[in-house]
Amino acid sequence: MSSEPSPAASPESSTGLLDRARREYEALAARGLKLDLTRGKPAPEQLDLSEELLSLPGRHPAVTDGVDLRNYGGLHGLPELREIFAEVLQVPAGQLLAAGNSSLELMHDCLVHALLSVLPGAGSRWADEDRIAFLCPVPGYDRHFALCERFGIEMIPVPMTPAGPDMDVVERLVAEDPAVRGIWCVPKYSNPDGVSYSDDTVARLARMETAAGDFRIFWDNAYAAHHLTDAPVEIADLLAACAASGHPDRAFVFGSTSKITLAGAGVGFFGASRANVDWLTANNSKRSIGPDKINQLRHLLFLRDADGVRTHMERQRALLRPKFAAVQRILDRELGTTGLATWTSPEGGYFVTLTVPDGCAGAVVRHAAEAGVVLTPAGATHPYGDDPRDATIRIAPSYPSLPELEQAMLGLTVCVRLAGYQKLLA
Ligand code: PLP
Repeated sequence: MSSEPSPAASPESSTGLLDRARREYEALAARGLKLDLTRGKPAPEQLDLSEELLSLPGRHPAVTDGVDLRNYGGLHGLPELREIFAEVLQVPAGQLLAAGNSSLELMHDCLVHALLSVLPGAGSRWADEDRIAFLCPVPGYDRHFALCERFGIEMIPVPMTPAGPDMDVVERLVAEDPAVRGIWCVPKYSNPDGVSYSDDTVARLARMETAAGDFRIFWDNAYAAHHLTDAPVEIADLLAACAASGHPDRAFVFGSTSKITLAGAGVGFFGASRANVDWLTANNSKRSIGPDKINQLRHLLFLRDADGVRTHMERQRALLRPKFAAVQRILDRELGTTGLATWTSPEGGYFVTLTVPDGCAGAVVRHAAEAGVVLTPAGATHPYGDDPRDATIRIAPSYPSLPELEQAMLGLTVCVRLAGYQKLLA
C-alpha cells in the first residue's frame, strides 16, 4: 500500500548521518535491552479488565430453556450470546455459531472441511482438484498464510489500497482462474496495516463474477469492536450484500472475543448462510459433541449485551490508546524528517505498519535483534514469508508496558536510520 520512502535532503552529509546512526546504534546495543515488539496480544492489564470471568458463572443455574449447559450438546452455542455478537459481527443470530475459544481454529476447520467434503454450491471436494488458490491481500496476517501453506493452497498476493484489496486485480483474478476458491480479508482495522474496507469494496466483493462456483470470502472480522478513536468505523454488511447480489453462500464470517475478554479463554464465532452453517455444523458434529457452553455462559453474564461489549471495549481503548499514541509520537520525532520511513496511523486494531526503504526491512529486524529488540520477522506479512520489496515491518504495541514500548520504539528508529543510511551509501 505504501510507496517507497524517499530520504529527505539534509544539511548534514550522508556519511555524517551514517556515522551518527552508527554511534547511536553502538550506544543502543551497549544497553543490553531485552524488549519484544512482536506480540499482537493483550497486555496483562487488559486481561485484568476481564478478571471477573474467572469467578463466573459462580452458582448461577446452568440450565437455560430446559438445556443443561453442563452437559453435551448445543452445537450452535448459547442463543443469548449469539444475539450479542450478531450485532458486533453483522450476522443474524440464527446464522451465527458460538464455538470454541478461537476463530483461527474455525478458519482451519473450514479449510479442512472444504478439502474433504463438498461445499454448498460445489461440484467436488477441494482435495480432488489439481490446484486450489487463495487471494492474499498484502500485507496480511501470517497465520492465514500459514494455514494455506499447511494445506498446499497456493497463495496469490493482491496489493492493498486504503479502501481494501485492489478490487480491479481481485475481480480479474477470480473471473479468469477457476482454481481461485477464496480470499482472506480482515475487513476492519486490518492486521497489519489498519485498513478498513470501503462500502464500494464490500459491494464489489459481494457481486463480482467468479469462475469457481464455490468461491468463499474468509471474512476475518477479528477487530470488529476494537476502535482506537471516538469515531468507530462502520463497515458494510458483507453477508447481506452477498445475499442481495445472488451469492448467498459466498461469505464465511469469523470473529472472537480473544481481544475483548481473555485471549486464551474467549469464544470464537462463525457466521454464514444457513446452507453454510448447516454444512459446518454437520462436519463439526463429527469432531465435537458440543462447545464449552459454561464459558459461553460466563461471557454472557459478564458482557450482558452489545452495549456491554461497547463499554468494555472503551476500557480496552483507554489502555491501548496511550501506547499507539507513543508509537506515533516517537516515529514522528525520530524519523519524521529523515524520509527513511512511512507508517500507518490506525484507527483501531492491534498493529502499526512501518515501511522502510526497499531492501532494508530484513536489515532493520536483524540490527534490532542484535541490540535486544525483537521484531516480527521481515516478510511475515507476505505469503511464503517473502516480501518482494523487503520493506514492511509490523509493530505490535499492545503487550509491552508503556516505558518498555517507548524504549523499544526508540531502539527501532535507531535501527531504521542505521539500515537506511547504510543503504543510501552502499
Ligand atoms: N485473525 C486475526 C486477523 C488476528 O490478528 C488474530 C490474532 O492476532 C486472530 C485471527 C486470532 O484469533 P483467535 O484468537 O480468535 O483464534
